[in-house]
Amino acid sequence: MKVHKKYSIIGWCILMELSERQEKILEIVKEFGPITGEKIAEFLCVTRAALRPDLAVLTMSGFLEAKPRVGYTFKTQAVDNEVIRMLNQYKVGDVQSMPVVLKESCSIYDAIVTLFVEDTGTIFIIDDNNYLTGVVSRKDFLKTTLGQADICKMPVSVIMTRMPNVILATADETVVEAVKKIVEQEIDSLPVVKYLLDADGEEKPQVVGKITKTNIARLFLDLATRSNEGG
Ligand code: ADP
Repeated sequence: MKVHKKYSIIGWCILMELSERQEKILEIVKEFGPITGEKIAEFLCVTRAALRPDLAVLTMSGFLEAKPRVGYTFKTQAVDNEVIRMLNQYKVGDVQSMPVVLKESCSIYDAIVTLFVEDTGTIFIIDDNNYLTGVVSRKDFLKTTLGQADICKMPVSVIMTRMPNVILATADETVVEAVKKIVEQEIDSLPVVKYLLDADGEEKPQVVGKITKTNIARLFLDLATRSNEGG
């Protein structure tokens, strides 16, 4: 039997699994609410008393609102708000990992070797003053190897996506904002940067980390695992 899972979020990230009957109650209230406990019991062919624990769980966890003399209503807004509030607590700085960085003058060949050795999909490219100038990823390398380029001589800067076209993240922005950029731009990762003033007093980005689809998947797994552990 397929188990449908719906989770309730109570306070700080406590997620719990709903039973099949609790899910049915939610469906009934969504469709027919406001609806009394007696009517719900009729739908499910059980006594009102048998439903009491389920209704208590759904009310306490914020799915349902019980109004005297009116009945139960579905609190979509409250649940949605709680999910948004919880997700927005995570900042890029909480999940970012170490970036792989190379100088512009590095050859495409050496950059490909680095890709394998460092087991990464994206390399961030910096100038001699350590400011970010570009990003290069697997597809850029594949494209190059389709041509006649001498990858041992050609510098990686020739094939990189250049600033100001690089999409950036900062440690203090939310993970949700970073995910939005990754999804909308259809890319795998963002360099996490801090801005410094260069010799001309111009603000320029230096790479301090990266946020990738893997970091985000790990956060997702972390949240799901916490829920199984019950707290
Ligand atoms: P892959 O090449 O492994 O599919 P991506 O989907 O991330 O990886 O990269 C696709 C293209 O987008 C490449 O040309 C790459 O240079 C570029 N790119 C990757 N990351 C960024 C970024 N943060 N900002 C702008 N362009 C990027």
